[in-house]
Amino acid sequence: MRNRLNYEVVIIGGGPSGLSAAIKLAERGVKTLVIERGRFCGSKNVFGGVIYTSSIKNLVSDFPQVEPFPCERPITEEGFFLISEKGLSKITFLKKEDTPQSFSALRAKFDSWLSRVALEKGVDFALKTKVIDLIKNFRGEIKGVVVERPESWESSNPAQISAKLVIIAEGVNRVLTQKAGLLKRDWSSEEVVLSVKEVIQIPKNKLEARLGIGESEGLAVELVGDITLGLPGTGFLYTNQSSLSFGIGVFLKSLVENKIKPYELLEKAKAHPYFRELFQEGEILEYSAHLIPEWGLEGFPNLYGKGVLAVGDAVGLVNPIFREGANLAIYSGIYAAETAYEALKRDDFSEKTLSMYEEKIKSSYFYKDFLLLKDLKKTLFTSNQWFNFYPQFFNFLLESYVSSRGREKREVLREILQELKRKRGKLGILRDIIKILKLFW
Ligand SMILES: Cc1cc2nc3c(=O)[nH]c(=O)nc-3n(C[C@H](O)[C@H](O)[C@H](O)COP(=O)(O)OP(=O)(O)OC[C@H]3O[C@@H](n4cnc5c(N)ncnc54)[C@H](O)[C@@H]3O)c2cc1C
Repeated sequence: MRNRLNYEVVIIGGGPSGLSAAIKLAERGVKTLVIERGRFCGSKNVFGGVIYTSSIKNLVSDFPQVEPFPCERPITEEGFFLISEKGLSKITFLKKEDTPQSFSALRAKFDSWLSRVALEKGVDFALKTKVIDLIKNFRGEIKGVVVERPESWESSNPAQISAKLVIIAEGVNRVLTQKAGLLKRDWSSEEVVLSVKEVIQIPKNKLEARLGIGESEGLAVELVGDITLGLPGTGFLYTNQSSLSFGIGVFLKSLVENKIKPYELLEKAKAHPYFRELFQEGEILEYSAHLIPEWGLEGFPNLYGKGVLAVGDAVGLVNPIFREGANLAIYSGIYAAETAYEALKRDDFSEKTLSMYEEKIKSSYFYKDFLLLKDLKKTLFTSNQWFNFYPQFFNFLLESYVSSRGREKREVLREILQELKRKRGKLGILRDIIKILKLFW
């Protein structure tokens, strides 16, 4: 057993970021161990979720022509539902692609498929094993991990696994990222979203009839407006094979300040006339809650240290506005693997060599998006009108339009303008227009 507890690279966490790093390392012949605390990869994970093929193709070149297929449905219709107290407007785009660019997925299935790919490439796994500490030498270089398992039958000391390099892929909780000394500060409650989600089984033919989709079609929509009870945040509705993933995410700070419990948001949303009908005869298969790191560039920790790299949610690689998270986790895992391989070749795990990883992240498309997002997030999430007033007003506008027959239209228009002035004010509207223009000019 003892000579097996020695690896070139140890990866903490078997989510998309850790598994991607593992696949890329094993392909290059690197002796790699993934340590995952769950019973199997995906068992502890929560996700909306939509998976984008572009990132996965970097890992598995023939995706989506793979067996067993780990996703639920190709996404053929995507967009927004704008929600008011009783109404709902749909803005969706019907995609006509020969090869779908995105799929809905459930993590238990998707992550275990990725782990099987890694296993076939020669990655070792330690499941049901939690990493509790990092091994550091006297120079402060990370040289392995300590796990919550006895080192032998006779001893109660926790086992140690040595490694030339450790990749931290532990997700949003960041306990080991902190132990590695990578955190510049902790996150605050206005930088993380608490997302609650249900997977609701719907009788199959009814699911399709209710959403107006075909058997091999899928819908992915973001829900904005009254769904968050006036708090800044959004919801989502994604179609799986025979179930719906339905969730709401709100900044932790708003939940605490308004004393709202996460499940209350879901219950209230499910009472909306549209969703009440959609979920009729539905059976809840899964309920989960998870944090989403939305601190962006301001909260980025150091991405590397002596003998260590951090990837995925542990770093905060999530673009909430464009719903990118799992794919950024995958890209960061790939970049970390490339860097680790280079360091192994040079037998040099110093910060100087590992800084290559940061360079790769900084030249990625998504890092540039984070720069843009900085202002966009501030504009969108610091006040309620974008996620509340405007979606509701849009519903009012459409409702006024469709019920205007038989009335003088000038009068209808006057009512619309009055509503706009009453709820937002001339000055408010002007300020909103300027804010939006400033973002893009
Ligand atoms: C509700 C919700 C909806 C989302 N929807 C989408 C979506 O539609 N599209 C999208 O692209 N992204 C989405 N995301 C974001 C996406 O899920 C994450 O960005 C992505 O999963 C991050 O991957 P990761 O590997 O870094 O972390 P995780 O997926 O969190 O994986 C971390 C792994 O590490 C393990 N672990 C943690 N600590 C230890 C330890 N000490 N020892 C051993 N193992 C450990 C955990 O068990 C877990 O398996 C969503 C997230 C949420 C919460």
